Amino acid sequence: MPDLPPGGPVHQATGPRQPLCRFCGAGLAHTFVDLGMSPLCQTQIGPDELDKGEVFYPLHVYVCNQCWLVQLQEYVTPEQIFSRDYPYFSSFSDSWVEHARTYVEHMVTDFGLTAASFVVELASNDGYLLQHVQRGGIPCLGIEPTASTAAAALARGIPTRQEFFGLALARRVAAEAGRADVVAGNNVLAHVPDLNDFVAGIAALLKPDGVGTFEFPHLLRLIEHNQFDTIYHEHFSYFSFLTVRAVFGRHGLQVFDVRELPTHGGSLRVYVQPTTSGRRPVEARVQELLATESAAGIDNLALYGRFQERVYATKRHLLAFLIEARSAGKRVAGYGAPGKGNTLLNYCGIGTDFLDFTVDRNPAKQGTWTPGTRIPILAPGAILEQKPDYVLILPWNLRAEIVEKMSPVRAWGGKFVIPIPTVEII
Ligand code: ZN
Repeated sequence: MPDLPPGGPVHQATGPRQPLCRFCGAGLAHTFVDLGMSPLCQTQIGPDELDKGEVFYPLHVYVCNQCWLVQLQEYVTPEQIFSRDYPYFSSFSDSWVEHARTYVEHMVTDFGLTAASFVVELASNDGYLLQHVQRGGIPCLGIEPTASTAAAALARGIPTRQEFFGLALARRVAAEAGRADVVAGNNVLAHVPDLNDFVAGIAALLKPDGVGTFEFPHLLRLIEHNQFDTIYHEHFSYFSFLTVRAVFGRHGLQVFDVRELPTHGGSLRVYVQPTTSGRRPVEARVQELLATESAAGIDNLALYGRFQERVYATKRHLLAFLIEARSAGKRVAGYGAPGKGNTLLNYCGIGTDFLDFTVDRNPAKQGTWTPGTRIPILAPGAILEQKPDYVLILPWNLRAEIVEKMSPVRAWGGKFVIPIPTVEII
């Protein structure tokens, strides 16, 4: 491999100490992307916080050139992030609850789950998934560190432990409730700072013929589609299939199947079993996806080294559009206030100088302000009242749904703007 990849120089880390890879422990010397300083993205600013300061943390993402794990250092602990009243309730999204329902149906059929089985979900949130397991008469347990969502699950009658998962808790659960036939974890691997302890816990909790199933955004799609705004402090790790397979493998878990899903801009669902005692054959899809990733250069620094320049280009294009629109007297509003929107707004430096306001369906966000950029978040009706010329869609993964729902915008000649992967006006 040449020292300098053809896509441009890989940025070398400088500074007083070299961070270490959270999976393999190698020194991290290669920047994947540096998004500068950003506040915690999953927060909103309330009226009494408007005249107070906010803490900004680095959003500097490294790639490990030994195991290829793309990662953020633990600038903020999960306790800091999740002990707050975490506003994200999975059940708020209809499409996500439906996704969970069909997922459970497949799980019950594929793994032959019965009233004698035991299903554990990690990061079970408000019970959006386990409610379907429980309705099927299958014993289950949710593990969820966030107080508000764990309380919502308990109120629904879903057994839930409000704790962080790791090897110690896995051993306690196994001793008290028995080992699990299925351990599921959707969109949780990225949130775990001590990755090895977490995956060791999964191995300790599974029965010898048990199955683990995990969903997470696919790094290859993040790179391909320039989804840099999905990087925020709550997401410590960004996984390729190559790397996640190595992580499970190190802890005695074999990946025997994988599916590509459209959720979150392109996710993977992997299925694992204890390497020594698992009974399921390894599906051809495993080798096929490894080959796809290899062809894309997933184990080559050149792939990662090109990313920062694409991010710079997106910022320039978006700002150029906004400057031109505002200079021409056009009015621009946002749609949505997701965590990814906050990374985009903070990185690009977009405040009320460009966006008059944004809107969100979640009533808990209405009447608050975006972190860092302090853009007011209103109810969706504000767009219909104010009739902006452009609506910048921040949750671009829901673009089709939003463009359809907000079709009245067309009536006054309004247009939609999609920031990612490149600025697009529709
Ligand atoms: Zn590593």
